[in-house]
Amino acid sequence: MDEFVRAHWQIVIDATMKALKDHGFDARFCSTREEAAQFILETAKDCASVGIGGTHTARALGIVPMLESAGKTVYDHWKLKVGTPEELDCRRKQMLADLFISSANALTMTGELVNREGAGNRINGMTFGPPKVIIVVGRNKIVPDLDAAIGRLESVAGPIRAMSLNRKTPCVKTGYCMDCDSPERICRITHIMHRKPAFTHVTVLILDEEIGY
Ligand code: SF4
Repeated sequence: MDEFVRAHWQIVIDATMKALKDHGFDARFCSTREEAAQFILETAKDCASVGIGGTHTARALGIVPMLESAGKTVYDHWKLKVGTPEELDCRRKQMLADLFISSANALTMTGELVNREGAGNRINGMTFGPPKVIIVVGRNKIVPDLDAAIGRLESVAGPIRAMSLNRKTPCVKTGYCMDCDSPERICRITHIMHRKPAFTHVTVLILDEEIGY
């Protein structure tokens, strides 16, 4: 990688990690997916159950089969048909697992995590319920501040997620949010974690690559 690009990311990541730590989060840097997966497996050692929120990033680490091979009960609703009683039950169980794994739509250099979603199981799981939470974030999701985080939700995360779900929402054509009233709207809740939640240990793993949206 170009040395100046490398130096730029180092400044951004260092500042973000400091801000997260100042806000009570456990912030860690991982140079590779393997390193991140290893940290998750270590953290899960004393956990019987693990919930996986709606996250491409964490799944891209290959962590679901690894946890299953390690004998953990993994609640992964992406394996089930959306809206069925089994799928909704799986989402509920995520919120009471020993460990919850997720990503975030944006991470600010001022130390906040920002998410927007439709159902709420992901933001519930990362806030209260599971005593331990790991949030895996590719460096591409780091933005300067909360305004930029909302901008990222509206110009990147929302439209791409809508496209991935084959939704007939205006953003899949415009490429940015139209604050739609479509019945297929995916953006129903905006959640900002300003500080570590009172009763939850939250680790933010910053991955040194572009991953997820
Ligand atoms: S509110 Fe509607 S238009 Fe905006 S990103 Fe969400 S689904 Fe797309």
